Amino acid sequence: MASVVESREWHLAAYAPEGVPTSDHLKLRTVTLSLDVDSIPDHHLIVQNIFISVDPYQRTLMSGLEDGLYFPQTKLNEVVSAGTIAKVIRSRDNSYREGDIIVNLYSPVAEYCVIPSALHLRKVDPASELPLQEYLSSLGLPGFAAWVGIEVIGDPKPGSNVFVSAAAGGVGMFAGQLAKLKGCRVIGSTGSDEKVKLIKEEFGYDDAFNYKTETDLDAALNKYFPNGIDIYFDNVGGEMLEAVLNHVNTHARIPVCGMISQYKKIWTERQGVRNLLNMVGKEVRMEGFLMSSHPNRFGDFAKEMESYIKEGKIISKLKIYHGIESYLESLGSLFTSSNFGKVIIEVKK
Ligand code: NAP
Repeated sequence: MASVVESREWHLAAYAPEGVPTSDHLKLRTVTLSLDVDSIPDHHLIVQNIFISVDPYQRTLMSGLEDGLYFPQTKLNEVVSAGTIAKVIRSRDNSYREGDIIVNLYSPVAEYCVIPSALHLRKVDPASELPLQEYLSSLGLPGFAAWVGIEVIGDPKPGSNVFVSAAAGGVGMFAGQLAKLKGCRVIGSTGSDEKVKLIKEEFGYDDAFNYKTETDLDAALNKYFPNGIDIYFDNVGGEMLEAVLNHVNTHARIPVCGMISQYKKIWTERQGVRNLLNMVGKEVRMEGFLMSSHPNRFGDFAKEMESYIKEGKIISKLKIYHGIESYLESLGSLFTSSNFGKVIIEVKK
């Protein structure tokens, strides 16, 4: 292999406090990287990214505002970060060898990069029978977020009435399927009729509706939840959360995974939820969570999810973009209803 490589990487050129980042905010540049192992410090690796995970939270790191998710903002001119699957090209850490495949939770969005070996890395077992992409999907951030929300916070019981928003997406598809496996009655909402069909026919939800055509959310929830909602897995926030709070049963749980309908707005412009008082009368437990705060549960999750996937009890769908140049387009796609399943970039076309 050559001793240097040209690598393309996405950096933040300007903050985007509102809307979806455009080519004014995110720019692709090419850098030259030495592949000489002596060019990197001890406990560092040179890796080649194979797959890049595209997630809604990444947009919130580009606003220049510390609010809501409270993740540190990407600095201007810095390479943006994402979860990746990568191959080790050079190693200055005895725990990693050239050719190892790793999962990196916070990688530069780059073709090649130098990363510290101490943080956020997990090796993929070469004997694993699962496709590599699943380590960013069912066995990665979306699968784990779904599992924490349903199993740890949702406390599902057979017969519980469960509602999942953004139900055809990376997290939503797993949240509903996990609740079904617990014997719950599960309804999902999504933004297209094609995805309503997918949710019902492939993800096995009991029913689903298109919130863009059934715009009277109160009427829709009346229709789909004649006996009220016991668990609402919230991916979207805003008016859907408000509508749900009019249909919750006593002691309902609301694991708040995210609020994608609000990510494009500065916080003073975000939609208020007017009926929070229902939480008092119905003694509702609403709990925001970050899957990254539950590392002690990751082992239980991975074991359970891997067997569900292998046994075909849980189905995983991927939307794969090709080439690192597709990062901007794929990130923007999350804020439309154009895709379903987990959005991933295959770096090499
Ligand atoms: P995703 O569902 O694969 O993609 C985003 C989807 O959100 C879109 O496909 C679209 O689907 C829906 N959406 C976009 N704009 C919307 C709007 N204005 N109103 C309603 N729905 C809208 O994304 P994901 O990775 O699975 O993430 C889902 C949620 O989980 C996000 O809020 C994300 O931030 C959160 N999350 C949280 C954690 C955690 O640890 N707490 C971890 C991962 C993800 P429709 O066709 O349904 O509109």
